Amino acid sequence: MHPKIKWNTITFSCVFSIFFLQISTPPYAIGASLVKENSSLKQKKVDLDLNQETDPRVRELVAIGGSMEEIAAIRGPSIKTPHQAIRELKLGNTRFVLGQSQRADLAPNLRRVQLLTQTPFAVVLNCADSRVPTEIVYDQGLGSIFTARNAGNVADPGALGSLEYAVKHLKPHVVVVMGHEGCGAVHGAMLPIEERNKEPTSLQSLLNQILPAVAELPLIRDRKARMREAVINNVRLQVSRVNEDAVIKDAIHKKKILVIGAYYEITSGLVEFLDSPEELKLK
Ligand SMILES: [Zn+2]
Repeated sequence: MHPKIKWNTITFSCVFSIFFLQISTPPYAIGASLVKENSSLKQKKVDLDLNQETDPRVRELVAIGGSMEEIAAIRGPSIKTPHQAIRELKLGNTRFVLGQSQRADLAPNLRRVQLLTQTPFAVVLNCADSRVPTEIVYDQGLGSIFTARNAGNVADPGALGSLEYAVKHLKPHVVVVMGHEGCGAVHGAMLPIEERNKEPTSLQSLLNQILPAVAELPLIRDRKARMREAVINNVRLQVSRVNEDAVIKDAIHKKKILVIGAYYEITSGLVEFLDSPEELKLK
């Protein structure tokens, strides 16, 4: 048999088997088996593919029969402070801008180790816009960034709940509220009320939460510059709401996290950080 045909046959067989397994196994059975696998992983001896493993510490642990939990521990994050976290985001964005993104570590070994826990060093409240993919813009791999997204990066109760979860349980070092060039939600909030009232109710509710940021903009005649000012002012407004959250306030007070703003320029790929009190001041 021609090798290409053989591989196609094998691939088809695998895909068909997975599909058949999914349609023939009731969801509760899949859930039960996952729970069982999760609880046994902690003690489980490592069964990793060493051909995929580049970290010598992991290879050594595998050789002496270490557990998945021990491997997760040595794979822990190297970033330990808010300033290191901001620096890592800046470096990652620089790689992205220069077209030198490192290939994200998507090795099966890393996914298996991450099943036990997640240790993101940063939390990003980002716009849901498809042109602003968080991990790609910051050149980060699996498990590095905890992201909450909605149109206009609004710190509404849903987004704040996600941020609270991350800050309380995952111990990240920085929270970034990120707006972007040409944001449709911010543009929508700047339209006359008759236009906004034509939108669906839930969308109107999001736009209303952007409104205070764009209601009293200084007179800027250049359309692009005016939009940029509106987006950055919305970032400032949402940062101020995040700062008011009790869980986040407590973490800031204990110097565990910093909350900063960011503006992503779609055309250049560059993220500008608003990380000083002066830049984040509402007025
Ligand atoms: Zn947007």
